Amino acid sequence: MTATLPETTGITGQMIIAGAHVRGSGQPVRAFNPATGETLEPAYHYGDSSHVDAACSAAAEAFAAYRATTAEQRAQFLEAIAANIEAVKDAIIARATAESGLPTARITGEVGRTTGQLRLFAGVLREGSWNHAVIDPAQPDRQPAPRPDIRQRSIALGPVAVFGASNFPLAFSVAGGDTASALAAGCPVVVKGHDAHPGTSELVGRAVTDAVAAAGLPAGTFSLLFGDGPDLGTTLVTDPRIKAVGFTGSRSGGTALVAAAAARPEPIPVYAEMSSINPVFLLDGALATRGAQLGEAFVASLTMGSGQFCTNPGLVIAVDGPGLDGFVAAARDALTGSPATPMLTPGIARSYATGVDALTQHAELVGRGQPGDSECACHAALFTTDAATFLKSEALQAEVFGSSSLIVRCKDAAEMRTVASTIEGQLTATVHADESDYASAGELLPLLELKAGRILFDGWPTGVEVGHAMVHGGPYPATSDSRTTSVGARAIERFLRPVSYQNVPKALLPSAIADGNPDKIWRRVDGQLTHD
Ligand code: NAP
Repeated sequence: MTATLPETTGITGQMIIAGAHVRGSGQPVRAFNPATGETLEPAYHYGDSSHVDAACSAAAEAFAAYRATTAEQRAQFLEAIAANIEAVKDAIIARATAESGLPTARITGEVGRTTGQLRLFAGVLREGSWNHAVIDPAQPDRQPAPRPDIRQRSIALGPVAVFGASNFPLAFSVAGGDTASALAAGCPVVVKGHDAHPGTSELVGRAVTDAVAAAGLPAGTFSLLFGDGPDLGTTLVTDPRIKAVGFTGSRSGGTALVAAAAARPEPIPVYAEMSSINPVFLLDGALATRGAQLGEAFVASLTMGSGQFCTNPGLVIAVDGPGLDGFVAAARDALTGSPATPMLTPGIARSYATGVDALTQHAELVGRGQPGDSECACHAALFTTDAATFLKSEALQAEVFGSSSLIVRCKDAAEMRTVASTIEGQLTATVHADESDYASAGELLPLLELKAGRILFDGWPTGVEVGHAMVHGGPYPATSDSRTTSVGARAIERFLRPVSYQNVPKALLPSAIADGNPDKIWRRVDGQLTHD
């Protein structure tokens, strides 16, 4: 069955290369509504290497002028993108809901998150600490040798390739966090849109392109391509004009791109957010006082959005006993009643089913949600095992993307800590603790710091606040570079690099490190932070 969305969407099935709407030459791809089984028009034809070349060439050409814009100009540009997205919000919500099968309320929230991220980076630009402006004034009389005048600031890396994520058609896609932070840094962006939501990508791509034109920026500041990952995606990442990559998706896709980037004659950083099972530690006191309540809340987090969150709680760890039994019983009851909801694509639904089958071979089934009759239905699953079995099994530690989780029963708190020390790197680690658990939690905390980008108490990992203090990152395989975050203000740092200016004539110094502080930003002068 094929459906056409209302005319208001006005989408054409074309890529956008430096402001020009270009029809691809390759195989046609149509979006698919996983909730209804409908195929959505129009067809998007894949681009080829000539399109990658055109986008990268325009991005490289745009770079000098774009990075020379002031922070205020870039802030206004990001705000204009946000306003343009809001102006076509209804069309975006209709198309993204159809392409993802996600509820309208979720997509509406994601539009707000996306525009909020763009505005956050506008604020970051105006605040100025991203410059990392440092001045070590000359000490001509220093003995035994004089000190030269040395100043430091951060500059943009160059054109950035961004891979749109399947599971956030807006907030981690065409104008999502990677694009917003790269544009904020002064980097032109070439996006490879995700096949799961090409119409949404085109609508948002047009919002960005219109803002580029209205701001008088070089057209190559932004391009949007469609194509096969291993083919067009790899060509993009290995193009010598691309200087960094932002990616969210599978471990296999992320590691392939990291390898391709590392094998270039000029290797470049790939910021890939990949695989995480987000352990949740339930401590004894919390289980004793509110085990059943925790069980219900856990299932709500597990099944939200068919579990298609990188922060989905895929692992629960607790000491065996009546408290945990109460948690498991409540979770089983809640899960059994949970309806099947559509997953984003038939491929993701198939890999979910394969992952659940693998867990069935190695762990005991606690319960399943309601089955569904469509090929994309997510039939939620909960398993349990003991810590000794878990620690020996690679299969039990693998991410199953979707509403699937495993409860690991430990014999004591020491075994719980062994599990915490053994698991792979994670985006999040959650602890549920009462005051009586603080001694035990205090022993766990330093172990979790080494494993996760975000540690949270008495909540659930799904739902990532976009702000200045957020870290959405973590050691491999959560990401390919644990020193960074893909959400929040610090995401801009991925696309910057420091430069020192030694004895550069004052007339030639960039404003961020010029005498008199013309940008009015915080700077470290002779070791002290100052606004003067
Ligand atoms: P994906 O397969 O990794 O694809 C993400 C993007 O990377 C797509 O544009 C894809 O292009 C491209 N790509 C994939 N493999 C590539 C390769 N070897 N070389 C170059 N480019 C490559 O992720 P997905 O489509 O979102 O979902 C598939 C699976 O990813 C899920 O089942 C889940 O396991 C995982 N996932 C994890 C997260 C997370 O946050 N942890 C989020 C989303 C998905 P093509 O589409 O053309 O292949």
